[in-house]
Amino acid sequence: MFKAFRYRLRPTKAQEAALNEQLRLCRNLYNCALQERRDAYRKAGKTVTGYDQMKDLTEIKAALPEYKGVYSQVLQDVLKRLDKAFRAFYRRVQEGSKPGYPRFQGRDRYDSICYPQSGFSVSDKTAFFSKIGNIRIRLHRPLEGKVKTATITRDCGEWSVSYICEVDAQPLPETGSSVGVDVGTTWFCITSDGEFVENPRHFQTAMKKLRVAQRAVARKRNKRSNRRRKAVQRVAKLHRKVARQRLDFHHKTALKLVRENDLIAHEDLNVGGMGRGTLARSIHDVGWGQFFSLLSQKAAWAARKVVRVDPRYTSQACNQCGHTCRENRASQSRFRCVACGHQENADLNAARNILGRAAPSGINVAVVNASVA
Ligand SMILES: [Zn+2]
Repeated sequence: MFKAFRYRLRPTKAQEAALNEQLRLCRNLYNCALQERRDAYRKAGKTVTGYDQMKDLTEIKAALPEYKGVYSQVLQDVLKRLDKAFRAFYRRVQEGSKPGYPRFQGRDRYDSICYPQSGFSVSDKTAFFSKIGNIRIRLHRPLEGKVKTATITRDCGEWSVSYICEVDAQPLPETGSSVGVDVGTTWFCITSDGEFVENPRHFQTAMKKLRVAQRAVARKRNKRSNRRRKAVQRVAKLHRKVARQRLDFHHKTALKLVRENDLIAHEDLNVGGMGRGTLARSIHDVGWGQFFSLLSQKAAWAARKVVRVDPRYTSQACNQCGHTCRENRASQSRFRCVACGHQENADLNAARNILGRAAPSGINVAVVNASVA
């Protein structure tokens, strides 16, 4: 299985200029290749494939010598990305969903280059990339397994590299416990063991600051003013901070769940949640998708089981007798079963239902979408 390792890069001024130039050339290639595919289809009804375009790379390099300054596999990867975008577009057309034609990439949108196989190496203090050189790196944690690809990313003037490595699973010893996890809006999540996990305070503070900064941008009507530009920069900086803190918190929360439990059950977010206030949830974007995907990855490395259950009526069903009706919800936060009189915190009741649906010994055994991650 694959694991990503991300590190900060500290390029010199000259290296940074070289990296920016590589990004510019790759973005150009992407946009030109997109234009070619579009024109070929519109003007001649012809479909140009990614394979056709890759064959042309040699000619492009002969005609435009600056492209000799980019590692050849990096250029191929650019065309592969475009091909992927087109395949996704064709798939959406076939499925009949909103297709969304592949987009031209603006200056700030194209911000990474990938060495898909070779042309790079890494040691304690430096990361080598063909056509760029040795860049200073800090390996804050050791690389594991066999390194497959390297991707350099620019994020608002900060550079980092992400190595995808092939690693072996490291199963953890069994603990004998299973847990159901309910994600909410007041709490980040609630477990069937009765643990209420809150978003960390520093994260909440950063979120509040972000909202204030966003309002400050909205107040500045003149799109070209210096003050507005500065306010926008401040929002971007806070966004990065919030994203980093959220990621860190998701890592830690997922790791704790994986360490303590053999089986972790959560709602399948892809099953449309009826009767679970989905609208309110989508408004509170707290990145559950990211959290659940980290959870699945960590579970897979540790040979733990993640079960996604049908989310419908988990909040209205009684985890003691199974009676399901709307009247069971005494209030938003309180659950009181009208059949057996069982009373509990509403989110805790939901978490227990989620576990019940995943563990066959429970009352609700309707496991809709059980999968070993
Ligand atoms: Zn009941």
